[in-house]
Amino acid sequence: MTKAIFDLPEITNEPVKSYAPGTAERKELKAKLTEFKKGGLDLPMVIDGKEVRTDKLHDIRPPHNHQHLLGHYHQGGKEHVQMAIDAALKAKPAWENMNWESRAAIFLKAADLIAGPYRQSINAATMLGQSKNAFQSEIDAACELVDFYRFNVRNMYDLYAMQPNSSAGIWNRMVWRPIEGFIFALSPFNFTAIAGNLPGAPALMGNTVVWKPSKTAVYSAHIIMQILQEAGLPDGVINLVYCSGPDAADVIFKDKHFAGLHFTGSTKVFDGMWKTISENVSTYNSYPRIVGETGGKDYVFADPTANAKQVATALIRGAFEYQGQKCSAASRAYIPENLWDDVLKYMKDDLKNIKVGDVENFTNFVNAVIDEASFDKLAKYIDEAKASGDAEVILGGEYDKKVGYFIHPTVILAKKPDYVTMREELFGPILTVYVYKPDEVEETLDILDKTSRYALTGAIFSARRDKIEHYTHRLMHTAGNFYINDKPTGAVVDQQPFGGGRRSGTNDKAGSIFNLIRWASPQCIKETFVPATDYMYPNFLEE
Ligand code: NAD
Repeated sequence: MTKAIFDLPEITNEPVKSYAPGTAERKELKAKLTEFKKGGLDLPMVIDGKEVRTDKLHDIRPPHNHQHLLGHYHQGGKEHVQMAIDAALKAKPAWENMNWESRAAIFLKAADLIAGPYRQSINAATMLGQSKNAFQSEIDAACELVDFYRFNVRNMYDLYAMQPNSSAGIWNRMVWRPIEGFIFALSPFNFTAIAGNLPGAPALMGNTVVWKPSKTAVYSAHIIMQILQEAGLPDGVINLVYCSGPDAADVIFKDKHFAGLHFTGSTKVFDGMWKTISENVSTYNSYPRIVGETGGKDYVFADPTANAKQVATALIRGAFEYQGQKCSAASRAYIPENLWDDVLKYMKDDLKNIKVGDVENFTNFVNAVIDEASFDKLAKYIDEAKASGDAEVILGGEYDKKVGYFIHPTVILAKKPDYVTMREELFGPILTVYVYKPDEVEETLDILDKTSRYALTGAIFSARRDKIEHYTHRLMHTAGNFYINDKPTGAVVDQQPFGGGRRSGTNDKAGSIFNLIRWASPQCIKETFVPATDYMYPNFLEE
């Protein structure tokens, strides 16, 4: 039992390494890529701390080089989901009774392992498995995951310190209990950090977890699991299964011990699960926590006083980094006519220099999209725009899947503000621009507000403070993360807590105390030192 109130070690954001030519990190990463590219991967599930293999093998191939075989993973079925639930329930009593500083130490150690000896492994696995370039991997798989694990510890500490007042003669206490049952963590392909945080945050709070990563991010998930085990995570606390989402959901949502869903992914999948959970709600021992961060149709709005070069740079970075496969990616822009020629010229100049290709060539800014289904979907949107009278492909528009799933950065000019690519999340390197008349700012803000059902991120550009204040109020509900004179991507843990409203999720702000609260079921304890011995209150006495 803990016999002290400990301070935490200092917790700050993990510094991002540059990978510039000549740096040690660049050399180390290149060596790791060569090592990992040799292949031979054989990735088992990890249930109750043990490796579980099946006779169903699935290939792992880099999206940018689909003829290259890295190895395979072992696909599980419903029986493995059940094994994972059983293991989570078995591990729960010991884990929830473990001192908080021991749980904290495991995640702080995992963070140090990622920042240190595993940094280039997690980067290389993310680069090869998810086609992220060196810098994008570094800010995601290394730094953001380190930040999640470290800041979660600090947030847990602050939460535990949140205690009620006590009047004379009593002592009120709040115990931040874990939730009874098990948590289901279901992660997307696009951020290794999110994949590590979805099981990690509930586990830190004393919960046990069944974790199903995306089938296109199994390689980095495997490394995360390896790190957590090396950090001392007890068997069964996080159980990693590789099976289809519907298979996992089918078993999990029927189980009376199901106690919470920690999800990041598309709105459609979240809607489906929310519906199933509602239908089954009377089955469960308690009301499950449902936390889901979902899709976006993120905007950049420039007003007539904005700086065209700054707007163009925000659009290029915001729309095309990681091939636009960020939930926060700029995918629709509203540009006034007076700036449009300049913005277009600057974007054209930048795109001339932007190289598309594999991740091993560090000069490639844009790499492949995640898989063939995504490639085909994006190519269809481009073809439709080329054929449509309501839109025009003004930059890019090329695609090729012979070697890898490459979609070139593409800019569509929408002649109507509700053209399909202004409304729907495409999740690729496609930006749609609507050019408005400079005297129609208010009408354009209305259009922006109503065009999409999402409200994840948004950016405004203006040189005028009064206008900035006006847009900030006017667009209050359009974005959970709102940027002034900056691109709408690149949120940093503990600096810009991330999450959106409307159809973009429950907005519990991953990496913040608000998210951690969802994984606790507070118990209030009132202790009276000298209990009453007379049932009467003074008002009942005779005059
Ligand atoms: P996805 O919804 O296709 O998949 C997410 C997870 O759900 C995967 O593990 C997948 O296997 C599983 N899944 C898919 N269908 C399922 C079903 N019917 N039942 C149960 N599980 C199922 O999302 P993705 O393509 O991996 O990721 C991209 C999406 O994630 C985009 O919509 C993006 O905006 C969103 N995203 C949001 C945030 C955020 O913070 N708001 C962050 C990252 C990604």
